[in-house]
Amino acid sequence: MTNAKVRKKIIVLGGDGFCGWPTSLRLSGLGHEVIIIDNLSRRRIDEECGTNSLTPIQSIDVRLRAWEEVSGNRIRFYRIDIAEEYDRLLSAIREEKPDVIIHFAEQRSAPYSMKSSLLKRYTVNNNIKATHHVLCAIVESGLDIHLIHLGTMGVYGYGSAGIRIPEGYLDIEVKTDNGDRVNQQILYPTNPGSIYHMTKSLDQLLFHYYNKNDRLRITDLHQGIVWGTNTPETQADERLINRFDYDGDYGTVLNRFLMQGAVGHPITVHGTGGQTRAFIHIQDTVRCLELAVDHPPELGERVLIMNQMTETRRVIDLAQVVSRLTGSEIAFVPNPRKEAAENELHVDNSHFISKGLVPVTLNEGLMMEVSEIAKKYAYRTDYSKIPAMSTWTKEQRPGNVHPL
Ligand code: NAD
Repeated sequence: MTNAKVRKKIIVLGGDGFCGWPTSLRLSGLGHEVIIIDNLSRRRIDEECGTNSLTPIQSIDVRLRAWEEVSGNRIRFYRIDIAEEYDRLLSAIREEKPDVIIHFAEQRSAPYSMKSSLLKRYTVNNNIKATHHVLCAIVESGLDIHLIHLGTMGVYGYGSAGIRIPEGYLDIEVKTDNGDRVNQQILYPTNPGSIYHMTKSLDQLLFHYYNKNDRLRITDLHQGIVWGTNTPETQADERLINRFDYDGDYGTVLNRFLMQGAVGHPITVHGTGGQTRAFIHIQDTVRCLELAVDHPPELGERVLIMNQMTETRRVIDLAQVVSRLTGSEIAFVPNPRKEAAENELHVDNSHFISKGLVPVTLNEGLMMEVSEIAKKYAYRTDYSKIPAMSTWTKEQRPGNVHPL
């Protein structure tokens, strides 16, 4: 398959994960040369938490062999911890000389990042070092590499105070010492809601600095909550199936609801369900990455920030749709997060729309597809892992100490 407009060499950091795997397959299928770097920590965390993907994901070796058989395309793999093995990361970059590096390789669960002091420190150490090492290695390699990072809508905080959240930068008017009013554009002030979101806020400053100081080309994608599981590529063979997290820590909200409905478990809404969140289907995640690869910022251009989401929904509204589709009742449980009970959220996503994204919206057909997958693999469910066990503050649950 060689229908890519310009064939690029692309390193996908975190390419064994929920978003990284289908993205790697898509880019490889388009004719790009793809190399995955991953330390397989997500699989280790499953073992540590006694959880597993609902879908039977295969080892990385089996996955890559299956892809080669199915597509004729080879994806190579390096097992490197990019937060702890800087020299190996640098060597891989020097050796491969990629045009693009896509950076998915961070600990991405907010509840997991709040579980204990150990996991707060792990999340900060892993995510900040990972991002900084990539930036440092690109500079040290001397190569002109386009870095694309997966950030989160969560850096904006929950809620938009009546404004449409812009794509990373905010227009402000300030009063100078002599009383003049001048207009400026600043990075949208971050308001992270968890340690995980805080690492993504700190990532933004690292990008800002390296872009300014070393003229790195950087695209930072502020992604909404991903739902869905399959793409055409992951459906091509059972061995290519994507991961499906349903547990209270890593399961994303709509996938959790769809899975709960499919196995006849009550749909667990945190608090009133009045929280409004931004969503994107996994097929659009993959499409956005394809568009980001095709549209790098110019050399010397500031960090290109794009909101990678397609719609906003209230959690309770989603729960009601899933309840209607599956017949499961809704159960209201205490909200473990420290946040307002309700919020509104308006988001600008015109960058991706202007580049050709035609959003997959929350349609019942696709929701039923996820539900069917959940039903198919329901026998793999560990019901004890469905509830969210993490809490944000000590007051919420005194004595909540993670066993590690
Ligand atoms: P994931 O946990 O499934 O995948 C992350 C991958 O990175 C895993 O395979 C893990 O083993 C690897 N990794 C982590 N630390 C590493 C390290 N130090 N060295 C090498 N590999 C490492 O997560 P995901 O859902 O695919 O998310 C990918 C990115 O997208 C994350 O950065 C996340 O913050 C962002 N994001 C995800 C969502 C979502 O809903 N899933 C929403 C917004 C943003």
